[in-house]
Amino acid sequence: MSFKSLGLSNALIKAVDKQGYTTPTPIQQKAIPLILEGKDLLASAQTGTGKTAGITLPMLQKLSQGQQLRPRPIRALVLTPTRELAAQVYNNVRDYSEFLDIRSAVIFGGVKQKPQVATLRKGVEILVATPGRLLDLQNQGILSLAKIEILVLDEADRMLDMGFLRDIKKIISLMPTRRQNLLFSATFSREIKNLANQFLHQPVLVEATPENTTVDAIEQK
Ligand code: AMP
Repeated sequence: MSFKSLGLSNALIKAVDKQGYTTPTPIQQKAIPLILEGKDLLASAQTGTGKTAGITLPMLQKLSQGQQLRPRPIRALVLTPTRELAAQVYNNVRDYSEFLDIRSAVIFGGVKQKPQVATLRKGVEILVATPGRLLDLQNQGILSLAKIEILVLDEADRMLDMGFLRDIKKIISLMPTRRQNLLFSATFSREIKNLANQFLHQPVLVEATPENTTVDAIEQK
């Protein structure tokens, strides 16, 4: 099994090669073709399974194939519970988009908003964000979610534990109803199922056994 056989473009294969990845992990093998097909996903995969690339690579491919609008509207939003996770996901997005004309940014609270605002004003297609700062900047009219095509809720169970349910609902209400939704959660609690029932459209269930390391995850297939 290779990244090429999953249907990824040459620009993305080049970026994957640069990272030194040779084989897609189990979650990548399952998720990448489904995301490319445009399916909604309800996925359980923890950190260490290679889930970030599993989400980001097909997302980048879809965005780079679509119509390229100028100024660039935000077309994909990745919501994360913490600034650490947001920064980590953003670093991955940047690495994998190196050979594409796709811009991305990360915003989170606890730091000055000015540099984040300056980046947003230049236009980005992918925004990685924590819910509070996102709503704050949206309320100030600095960003719009009206052109979102793909929504990713990463570590959704942690976001609910941290009390972000209301924010998530508000954020979703600002997006077009026709969009692709990818919900990642370590557990499928009743609350997560409720969220999925409310916002996902006929989701495909994808599960990857938690592994300590990606190498384990590859061997486990
Ligand atoms: P994640 O589960 O997304 O936090 O990824 C865990 C680690 O695995 C990260 O350091 C990635 O760079 C790495 N990784 C992701 N996909 C692969 C792959 N196919 N082969 C080897 N390492 C990978």
